[in-house]
Amino acid sequence: MTRLIILGAPGSGKGSQCKWITRDYNVPHISTGDILRKNIADGTELGMKAKAYMDNGELVPDELVIDLLKARLDEADCKENGFLLDGFPRTVAQAQALDEYLSAHGIGIDKVINLEVPDEEIMSRAVNRRTCENPDCKEIYNLRDNPPKVEGICDKCGSKLFQRKDDNEETVANRLRVYHSQTEPLIAYYDESGKVSTVVGQERLEDTIALVKFELEK
Ligand code: AMP
Repeated sequence: MTRLIILGAPGSGKGSQCKWITRDYNVPHISTGDILRKNIADGTELGMKAKAYMDNGELVPDELVIDLLKARLDEADCKENGFLLDGFPRTVAQAQALDEYLSAHGIGIDKVINLEVPDEEIMSRAVNRRTCENPDCKEIYNLRDNPPKVEGICDKCGSKLFQRKDDNEETVANRLRVYHSQTEPLIAYYDESGKVSTVVGQERLEDTIALVKFELEK
């Protein structure tokens, strides 16, 4: 079993790490951001409640996200080899709720990867980020360091690329503020159990992958 959390500011490159981790460790990638965006696209009640917060770079209220996450962890695929949490927990209250859920099920987190990237770098990456709109692909590009071969089109599946509505300068700055005040304290929270491995995000994706791999295999 491999039960992992990846922490890091929005835009630190967690999504790119999650892609290979979920493949190599054969665990589901659980991104609360993706689940919320799907709810918005499907026009669910949860989606309607979450939308304004997300558009402004604010956190969706804990109770909504905690219920959504627990329901996801109850699904069968999380009981096979473990899971990888991306974008959850984002507050100490969420981390406590997760701990309660896990201990009620007699399980725990194995490792927390903390991906560290300076704010200026995150800002530059975020405004250049493009994502494949195909929900089965979700490939991530960066117009600055990793552009698609054909502008606006995914190299992998040929679907259109889009810019997330929350990847603009004002929203990113707000997301970074929210991250530092509400999510960063989780590093200390998990550090108490000695499970945190901090990896400094490198310029080249392959280099960051190698560093994360080293930490996970330790
Ligand atoms: P992400 O794709 O992880 O960057 O999430 C996009 C947005 O979804 C965030 O800016 C929040 O508004 C919302 N969101 C995602 N996960 C959470 C969470 N665990 N708690 C609160 N809000 C969340």
